[in-house]
Amino acid sequence: MSDLDHLIEANRAWAARAKAADPQFFTRLLGQQRPQYLWIGCSDSRVPANQIVGLLPGEIFVHRNVGNLVHQTDLNCLAVLQYAVEVLQVRHVMVVGHYGCGAVQATLAGQPLGLIDNWLRNIEAVYHRCRHELDALPAERRLDALCEHNVRAQVRAVCDTTVLRAAWARGQDVTVHGWIYGIADGLVNDLHVSCAGPQDAAKLAG
Ligand code: ZN
Repeated sequence: MSDLDHLIEANRAWAARAKAADPQFFTRLLGQQRPQYLWIGCSDSRVPANQIVGLLPGEIFVHRNVGNLVHQTDLNCLAVLQYAVEVLQVRHVMVVGHYGCGAVQATLAGQPLGLIDNWLRNIEAVYHRCRHELDALPAERRLDALCEHNVRAQVRAVCDTTVLRAAWARGQDVTVHGWIYGIADGLVNDLHVSCAGPQDAAKLAG
């Protein structure tokens, strides 16, 4: 008897339901995965990629980390991006932030949390770049505004990777999008910063 038995039981029930609804479901997945999308989102437990956009296993490739950050030196994120773009040939990469993000909140509050402060430096840099604009907002809007700015900055970071630059240089059809998710209403909003090539990315940077 383990403390996690209820999760294993829930898994058995889920697998049985999936098979009852579509007897070939798991057999098809066994063959290969052909997702059209790469989701780069926050690790926050309230923001599960597949459920939010109603996609089944096999339909979306996912990378999540605290604060949905894209560091140019993060081998994990870059490996996921390279595999998704070059091997799986995804058509869309979406960076998905969320309102009320704890990582963004910690940066805004200047509150030290330990080792993770090093990881959050990217958000600190975004904060310093738009500090003027944020300071002019009512206090209750600042966190959500910085969450949006962070998504835009990470979209730029994806576009600046060698992976996206090379994909666009060889004419591959792949678009990078910036979305933000509202935990309070379950809705995703497009921040309209989509980049389908280096020209779009350059505009975003300006
Ligand atoms: Zn978060």
